[in-house]
Amino acid sequence: MMNKDALGRQLRDLRISVTDRCNFRCIYCMPREVFDSNHQFLPKQKVLSLEEIARLAGVFHQLGVRKFRLTGGEPLLRRNIDYLIRELASLPDVDVALTTNGSLPPSRIEQLRDAGLSRMTVSLDSLDDAVFKAINDVGQSVARVLEWIAAAEQAGYKPLKINMVVKKGLNEDSILPMARYFRERGHILRFIEFMDVGTTNGWRLDEVVPAARILEIINSEMSVEAIPPSYPGEVARRYRYQDGSGEIGIIASVTQPFCGGCVRARLSADGSLYTCLFSDSGHNIRDVLRAGATDDELARSISAVWQRRDDRYSELRTSHTTLPSRKVEMSYIGG
Ligand code: SAM
Ligand code: SF4
Ligand code: SF4
Repeated sequence: MMNKDALGRQLRDLRISVTDRCNFRCIYCMPREVFDSNHQFLPKQKVLSLEEIARLAGVFHQLGVRKFRLTGGEPLLRRNIDYLIRELASLPDVDVALTTNGSLPPSRIEQLRDAGLSRMTVSLDSLDDAVFKAINDVGQSVARVLEWIAAAEQAGYKPLKINMVVKKGLNEDSILPMARYFRERGHILRFIEFMDVGTTNGWRLDEVVPAARILEIINSEMSVEAIPPSYPGEVARRYRYQDGSGEIGIIASVTQPFCGGCVRARLSADGSLYTCLFSDSGHNIRDVLRAGATDDELARSISAVWQRRDDRYSELRTSHTTLPSRKVEMSYIGG
């Protein structure tokens, strides 16, 4: 089935948000003022069951998707996630990955691996406890996440990708200590420019530390040089340490947009399909599924959504980001 968007891009990669809930309140993602005890998370009946997600994944696979990433919210808060990993991993020729805040008991890692999880990304924004606690806003310590990282390594997840969101005035001083620490341990640290996802994180352009500045900070101590992407459409720009001790990535979606090669769709926990991280609305696939559609009908409706797509939000972004005015929250579609 022909499945290219209006700009000729083939859908290859699907991020699946398995829950909109999280045990953290990261200030750039789920600020406590908004995600407080009055916040209405999705009611259970609206959330896709794991069986429904597995079925949709099969349809996406039929359309050419070979990379699945489970995210959230915090994906490990979803019960029986191992079942879903097993189902996804049973599809031919796929890569099943997960992004986590690394705060749950590390004893779970072996189950994830045994279910077929191929890769793991762990988010950590600083090695400084005070800074990290100010960011996660629930008092989570750095030590807990490092324990998770050590256990993941033990289980064979090496190199891991470590995501660090950089926000001006908050954690620029953590850039070098993080780079030193993860270089020594052979993991790939990826710096992410603070993005204007959602409408609740109070994003301002002057709070973004541009990729060029991040590179300058790294180069002040450890020389790096650009290397080619490891696959077409990779969102992180890759750099390797000149002494051969490993690599880092920079996701510069604000200052160096990469919409041209974007082959990724996102499925929210309640079954809406988003063709861009910055969309204002998704396409409700859950209702099509629950109305009894066959796999072919589902494939046709997903394909129709993808073929109409001409997203290039990051390339059109202005300093005050008024397009569109209501964007979907990061914790809802999972970054
Ligand atoms: N809870 C998991 C975690 O934190 O790894 C998975 C979901 S989280 C939404 C996925 C990624 O998005 C994380 O690495 C997080 O740091 C990143 N993220 C969240 N809000 C962001 C923002 N405003 N700008 C850039 N990255 C952001
Ligand atoms: Fe939760 Fe991840 Fe968002 Fe932090 S970035 S609030 S851990 S979903
Ligand atoms: Fe893809 Fe949208 Fe991000 Fe551009 S802004 S890279 S189209 S998700």
